[in-house]
Amino acid sequence: MTATESLIAAAEAHSAHTYHPLPVVVASADGAWMTDVEGRRYLDLLAGYSALNFGHGNRRLIEAAKAQLERVTLTSRAFHHDRFAAFCAELAELCGMEMVLPVNTGAEAVESAVKTARKWGYRVKGVPAEMAKIVVAGGNFHGRTTTIISFSTDPEARADFGPYTPGFAIVPYGDLTAMREVMTENTVAVLLEPIQGESGVIVPPPGYLPAVRELTRERNVLFIADEIQSGLGRTGRTFACEHEGVVPDAYVLGKALGGGIVPVSAVVSSAEVLGVFRPGEHGSTFGGNPLACAVALEVIAMLRSGEYQARAAELGEHLHRELAALAGTGRVSQVRGRGLWAGVDIHPRYGTGREVSEKLMDRGVLVKDTHGSTIRIAPPLVIGKEDLDWGLAQLRGVLGL
Ligand SMILES: *Cc1c(COP(=O)(O)O)cnc(C)c1O
Repeated sequence: MTATESLIAAAEAHSAHTYHPLPVVVASADGAWMTDVEGRRYLDLLAGYSALNFGHGNRRLIEAAKAQLERVTLTSRAFHHDRFAAFCAELAELCGMEMVLPVNTGAEAVESAVKTARKWGYRVKGVPAEMAKIVVAGGNFHGRTTTIISFSTDPEARADFGPYTPGFAIVPYGDLTAMREVMTENTVAVLLEPIQGESGVIVPPPGYLPAVRELTRERNVLFIADEIQSGLGRTGRTFACEHEGVVPDAYVLGKALGGGIVPVSAVVSSAEVLGVFRPGEHGSTFGGNPLACAVALEVIAMLRSGEYQARAAELGEHLHRELAALAGTGRVSQVRGRGLWAGVDIHPRYGTGREVSEKLMDRGVLVKDTHGSTIRIAPPLVIGKEDLDWGLAQLRGVLGL
């Protein structure tokens, strides 16, 4: 047995099988490259689902984390700590908002946004007790908690996890008429991904997000944008909403906010919305801890320079030009996305998404398949152009071009 085989066998014996990873065991990583336990190198075109926007082992982020590790790592929110105020103020400023509710994982942030919207509905909008409704879109991915999977349309995510949390209405993504029809005076929020990541990098029709913005404003409903995957540089802007000139009432952020080092997520909104909470009504032991704040502060400083967004925009244009050429060959049936982010539907004749991912792995490129025939390309924003071109050449090779 190779080291890879025995480590995979041990992982399968002792972990719940909630994932079906590619058979590669990573031992170290740097920038856009990972090295496995056998010493083979792989180009990372997944970037931890955008948690690694700034690459593996980013020096600025590692230094910020190390410095904080030596000072103080955790206080709990029972006490103040000296990185907290700056983190909240600077994240709010980056978002053009006023207040931050810091938590750990993305699912926790979405849960917090759901609770925020309901509380706002009862305390500010005046919705009768227990009647609040939140509108979501089909094909959504907002996380894995019991409440969140209650409004998923993915049978795998839902099956045998009931009873489900009520209070959600699901409408087709991109369908404004359906959204308008399902809204009542008890609707407190619309929760959407401005680009649906897990669904296969689905970009809504142009004008959809501005129309949702207008409709929600008209009906006194919060527009909550889950930018956990689409945000923080991935699409060539700080937020995917910006491409359509839309400012939501709240952003839900995560993934890249933790710099690929620690989980850092947050709900960011106005004082009217996040001001609904009183002490004791919500919380998290690790949320907003000093280490998380120190890393996120460095992430925010890096995003403020605009260089990562510019790089994603420029390299993304190149990526989409190359992928469009691939689509022209018929081996790829559709390409979607924005910035350094693409969903590529492989024509079934050339293999499933999983098969293509495995063949790419054999050529030293790591991607993740989704929904049968789709592969997703989302490299760290720091990837070199030559490396990206090499990765795309491997994809052409796998497709027999
Ligand atoms: C990943 C993701 C989540 C969940 O984040 P976790 O940190 O895995 O809980 C929620 N929403 C979107 C859009 C995501 O991509």
